[in-house]
Amino acid sequence: RAQMAAHSMALTEAMTRASDFYRAQLRGATNAITYLKGRGLTGEIAARFGLGYAPPGWDNLRSIFPDYEAVVLAEAGLVIDRVDEDGGNRKRYDRFRERVMFPIKNTKGQVIAFGGRVLDQGEPKYLNSPETPLFSKGHELYGLFEARQAIRDAGYVLVTEGYMDVVALAQMGFPQAVATLGTACTPFHVQKLLRQTDNVIFSFDGDKAGRRAARRALEACLPHVTDNKTIRFLFLPTEHDPDSYVRTYGREAFEQEIHEAMPLSQFLIKEAVGEHDLQSPEGRARVQFDAKPMLQAMTPTALRLQIVRGLAQLTQTSPSEIEVLYELAKPVAL
Ligand code: ATP
Ligand code: MN
Ligand code: MN
Ligand code: MN
Repeated sequence: RAQMAAHSMALTEAMTRASDFYRAQLRGATNAITYLKGRGLTGEIAARFGLGYAPPGWDNLRSIFPDYEAVVLAEAGLVIDRVDEDGGNRKRYDRFRERVMFPIKNTKGQVIAFGGRVLDQGEPKYLNSPETPLFSKGHELYGLFEARQAIRDAGYVLVTEGYMDVVALAQMGFPQAVATLGTACTPFHVQKLLRQTDNVIFSFDGDKAGRRAARRALEACLPHVTDNKTIRFLFLPTEHDPDSYVRTYGREAFEQEIHEAMPLSQFLIKEAVGEHDLQSPEGRARVQFDAKPMLQAMTPTALRLQIVRGLAQLTQTSPSEIEVLYELAKPVAL
C-alpha cells in the first residue's frame, strides 16, 4: 500500500511537472495565443484554468524529464511507448504535440489528465489522456475544482460537453460550469454533482449528439433523483453549444435560457411521448411502454408520483393503473 501511494505520488508529480511545462510553453507561443484570443479568451481566464501549449516536436518532454525512458511517463499517458512489430524496436514519443492543453484536475486541485485541442482542422480535434491510475474519465468532471465555490454561490451547477464551453462560460460570467469529458454523463458523474449541489442543469450541444447526451444524462439521473434535488435540461438551438451561444447572444440571453430550462419530469414525459399519437389507444399505449423503464429506474419519490400523474392524464389512465401496470408498488432494493 505504501508502495502504491509512492507510485501515485510519482504519477502526480509527473503530471504537475508536465502541466507547468505546458503552461510555460504557452507564454511564447504566438500561434496558440492567437488561437485562444480568436476564441475570445483573455489571459486571465487562461491562467485561471492553467491552459498551456504542447509545442510541435516528438520529445519536448525530454527537457523536463531527463529520464525520458521512465515507466511512469508512459503510465501517466504523457509519452507513448511503441514497440515495432518486426524488430522489437522501441519508440517513445510525446503524446501531446502542437495542441492547446487543458489540465484536468481532481477535487484536490492536482492535475490528473489533459485534454489537448488542435489549433487547426486536424484530427482528432481533441486528444485526451488515456485511462491511468490517476484518471478514469467516467468519474471526472472537467472544471469541477475551479467551479466549486461558484457552484456554492450560484446554488446550481451547469453541466456541459466541452472544455471550451466551461472556459467560455466562466469568462462570460458563469463560472459554475463543468464538463463531462467526451463521454456520456455517467451515474458516477451524477452522484458527484449531487454531492456538490441540489440543482443540476445540463446544457449540452444543440445538435443530435447533444440531444442524445441529454437523454443519456436523464437515464443516469433517474436512480439518483430525490425530492430535495432539482435536475433540469437546457436545450440550445441546433447550431449552438454553450460557448457559441453565449458569445453570439450574450450573457443575459443565456441567463434566460437557464431560467427556462426544462425540469426532468417534463423532459421524461416528452421523451416518452416522442412522435407517438396521443389521439389513438395504440399511441397512448406506446407512450406508456416507452415511459416504463424510466419510471422503473426511479426510486419511489414524490417526483415519480407526479410524473405518473402527468403520464396518466396524457394517456387517459389513472395513476394507480399505471402503478399496477409497471409494478411500481413492488419494493425496490436499495
Ligand atoms: P470546440 O468548440 O473547441 O470546437 P467542442 O467542445 O465544441 O470543441 P464537440 O465536438 O462539441 O467539441 O465535443 C465536445 C467534447 O467532446 C469536447 O470538448 C471533447 O471533450 C470531446 N471530444 C470531441 N472530439 C473528440 C475526439 N475526437 N476525441 C476525444 N474527445 C473528443
Ligand atoms: Mn458537439
Ligand atoms: Mn464548441
Ligand atoms: Mn460543442
